[in-house]
Amino acid sequence: MDKPRKLVIASNNEGKLREINALLASLSIEVMPQGALNVSEVDEPYGTFIENALAKARHASRCTGLPALADDSGICVHALNGAPGVNSARYAGEPRSDQRNNQKLIDALNNQTDRRAYYYCVIVLLRHADDPQPIIVDGSWDGSIIDHPRGEGGFGYDPHFFLPEFDKTSAELTAEQKNRISHRGQALLKLVQILRTEKF
Ligand code: IMP
Repeated sequence: MDKPRKLVIASNNEGKLREINALLASLSIEVMPQGALNVSEVDEPYGTFIENALAKARHASRCTGLPALADDSGICVHALNGAPGVNSARYAGEPRSDQRNNQKLIDALNNQTDRRAYYYCVIVLLRHADDPQPIIVDGSWDGSIIDHPRGEGGFGYDPHFFLPEFDKTSAELTAEQKNRISHRGQALLKLVQILRTEKF
């Protein structure tokens, strides 16, 4: 059996880490959170998901000398020109609050009939900090925004993200259902497929 390849992930989110580790363990890849390697969090000042993901991965790789994985995600609403977008986590300002973010979103869509929205996730893997050709995968997930929250699962905007094909919000799906079809699930699946053959 090969020695596990080591990766640092530019996140300290337990849930994400568990999900990614479970998927990559079969490929003999060990993922370590950047906090365990004393990497500080970096700013995410850019207007696109990919720029923010690259900045996070490059910082983690530079600090550790390891290959680095980072993701960035959010919700984009058509009638709001893609907002909250890269500002999804702090749409209603600091301190971050899902409840205030959701209220701001519902207020912004007051009297708006076009409720289309999508979740987006991009994941980048830098083999080293100066890698000129990172591995980049992404996923998007279409739905629409409803005014009244439904469901207890998920997090963030899930209680307002309605999926007509299920007649449910993403907060009403089981974690397994959501992981299989979500923006993040789609991107991770593409990453696993690439890493089956790609060495780093
Ligand atoms: P980050 O990529 O961890 O920075 O997440 C960005 C923000 O986008 C989160 O804090 C949520 O507000 C939102 N978001 C991203 N993915 C999801 C999801 O699957 N459900 C609900 N909200 C999400």
